[in-house]
Amino acid sequence: MSTPALPERPLPTPTRESQGYWEGMQEHELRLQHCTACGKVRHYPRPVCPHCFSMESEYRKAPLGGAIHTWTVCHHPFNFFFKASAPYIVALVDMDAGVRVNAPLRGVTEADLRIGQRVTMQFEMVNKETTLPYFVAA
Ligand SMILES: [Zn+2]
Repeated sequence: MSTPALPERPLPTPTRESQGYWEGMQEHELRLQHCTACGKVRHYPRPVCPHCFSMESEYRKAPLGGAIHTWTVCHHPFNFFFKASAPYIVALVDMDAGVRVNAPLRGVTEADLRIGQRVTMQFEMVNKETTLPYFVAA
């Protein structure tokens, strides 16, 4: 009997709207979509501004700091690829730029976590085309 092949790591597929975000990741920057009509920031990237319904937007570099809004400890990964990493923490972070971002939180144990704890975004180059964010304690 052969061992079943491990699934490949699931990776994002950039869209027309999210391309600027992923390009920022490649440069180790958090770039967020801003409405060029009303100026408000939005995340996740999408074609229409939820505030003024404009379809015009641009990407601007944002600070990497934020505070933990909440987190979850994943004991049963949504994808079998991550089974070897479990348990791992995924944090939902209130970024200083005014949006919420979720990403893995590394280097911290569950017992040390608290709401409002300061974290910083860092970047993991997964392959030549894809860099993903994660958080560490600030
Ligand atoms: Zn707008």
